[in-house]
Amino acid sequence: MKKLFFLLCALLVATYCQSQISDYKELLNNDAPISDISLIKTTNDFDQNNLTQNEIDIKIKELIYNSKTQNNLSLDIPFNSKKLKYVGKKHPNDYLTFSHDAFTTRLNHLNKECEIYEYDTINIFIESKDNKNILNLFFTLRALTIIKVKYPEAYSKLIQQNISKNATSYILQAPYRRPSTLNKNNSIISFDNSPIDIAASTTDLFFGSQTNIGGWDYYENTNNLVMSIDNETILGDQDTKGSKPIYKFEDKDDNYFNYMRDGLIESIIHEFVHLYITNSVSIDEKSFFINEMRNDTTDKNFDIDVEEAIVLNTCLKYYKTKGGISYEVLNFYEKMLQTKQEILTKTFNYSDKLNLQRYYALKSLSKSTAKNFEDIYFLNILN
Ligand SMILES: [Zn+2]
Repeated sequence: MKKLFFLLCALLVATYCQSQISDYKELLNNDAPISDISLIKTTNDFDQNNLTQNEIDIKIKELIYNSKTQNNLSLDIPFNSKKLKYVGKKHPNDYLTFSHDAFTTRLNHLNKECEIYEYDTINIFIESKDNKNILNLFFTLRALTIIKVKYPEAYSKLIQQNISKNATSYILQAPYRRPSTLNKNNSIISFDNSPIDIAASTTDLFFGSQTNIGGWDYYENTNNLVMSIDNETILGDQDTKGSKPIYKFEDKDDNYFNYMRDGLIESIIHEFVHLYITNSVSIDEKSFFINEMRNDTTDKNFDIDVEEAIVLNTCLKYYKTKGGISYEVLNFYEKMLQTKQEILTKTFNYSDKLNLQRYYALKSLSKSTAKNFEDIYFLNILN
């Protein structure tokens, strides 16, 4: 009886989710442009006009907490419309400050005018205002809203950072390495076709003026944390890349919409853990170690496998504690982690000396209780 009840509930959630997705499908495949993002409706929309930003946040939080499901796929919530600002169609450098060579090296894909939006201090770049891109924007606002409520550690520590405050406290908390930089971080989520598969990240540090805190010189720099989501592979029609290998639907739009409601949340948190590693070299010894080895040509496994294994393991542990991420996504990344682990745990038959050295180096940078792969290939940041 109990089983039947759960089965019925699951069926209801699936049917509900499916009806939402078909509504969005109409928008995606409609020739008439979605001129205004507010035309995208959710079943839980409420009148935000007479409410403050804070009151809207509280109401959305209640909607998420009181929802019949905690599965992100089925959560149907609006975003906070008062937090969304359209900056305009601009070259990124006319809005945020980047270093001289950023656009000829790391950020070649953003060396053009983008449609720029700001939401809760996070910058979102889309290529145009066609329906596909407006839907990308809408689901990013939804993902950020869900992350802020359900994964607050990731949101506050990785994505929305008050850097000047954090940097000051880091200075006091980090006796082993004094940072020479004080960074103001700009988080950027961009939809473009730069990633090799589904998402990728890079940073750009612009050196600013010198300042002095407690007798030490620091530089007030701007650090742009850029994560890109591939606007082609997410569409769900490529067998080996993007959203299709995760969800495996025949209808490409099903892959796309499932990804946008669920996998996107994973992609954002995942890429911002990579960005944390790059960004925290002066305050986190493990990040420093990983970062130093990124360009180590003697150790081919280091760059790709070690960092990826650490990010996958850190994220998967976090999602399992918090819940909400679908079985499909967990399973997909669990398998990826297993493959990495197989490469990296050749350690114990001594067939790979570098693996062994690295294992003990990472162990020395982990909690004293860390005793296996799971504890050592892990960043203790999301708690
Ligand atoms: Zn990764």
